[in-house]
Amino acid sequence: MSKIMVVDDAQFMRVRLTKLLSGHGYEVTEAENGDQAVKTYRAFKPDAVLMDITMPEKDGLEALAEIRGFDPNAKIIMLTALGQESMVIQAIKSGAKDYVVKPFDPDRVMLALQKVLG
Ligand SMILES: [Mg+2]
Repeated sequence: MSKIMVVDDAQFMRVRLTKLLSGHGYEVTEAENGDQAVKTYRAFKPDAVLMDITMPEKDGLEALAEIRGFDPNAKIIMLTALGQESMVIQAIKSGAKDYVVKPFDPDRVMLALQKVLG
């Protein structure tokens, strides 16, 4: 069973994603900011990550760069809002595998995950 880490500072978003992924049989862990995401990634070693961009403490772009720094194979999908195109481009350049625009379409999330998990 693949392990997925859900990172978002909005609790309702984490709850929705965790419910969706658990329902598809994934093992899910959550983090609520970039700092926690880096720590949880080291401990949980997820197979893929869904990462919000705008978060307190450390944002998704910083967390992405830090995680890719110690795990170049990290499979990270960004969760973005409309109007964040420049940040999405930056994320892809920093190694993000894909992005999903919020409010997310559950099928789009599952497709992105299946793609990165191979
Ligand atoms: Mg946010």
